[in-house]
Amino acid sequence: MMETEHDDKMIRCPKLGDEMTFSYCLRESGELPCARIITCWQAFFDVTKELKCVLTPEQWDRFTGAKPKEKVLSLIELIEKAKANK
Ligand code: SF4
Repeated sequence: MMETEHDDKMIRCPKLGDEMTFSYCLRESGELPCARIITCWQAFFDVTKELKCVLTPEQWDRFTGAKPKEKVLSLIELIEKAKANK
C-alpha cells in the first residue's frame, strides 16, 4: 500500500482506547483499512479521496463491499432466528 501525507497523524482510537496513526488505520484489517476509517478521520481531511489513491480498484471494491454484505448476512440471520422462534 502506498504512503500518504497523513500517515503520521494521530487520533484516539475508539476501538483500542489508545492513540493510533493514520497508517495503522489504513492497514488495520490486514491489506484493507479499518471499517471505521472514514467515520474516524472524515473531520480532519478527505479520507475517501486518500483511500481511492492508495487502494487498488479491487481493494476499494472489497472495502466498500464488505459492509453491505455484513448487513445482508445479519438480516438473513435475524430472519432465520425469527423463523426458528415461531
Ligand atoms: S479507523 Fe479503526 S483503528 Fe483507526 S482509529 Fe478508527 S477505529 Fe481505531
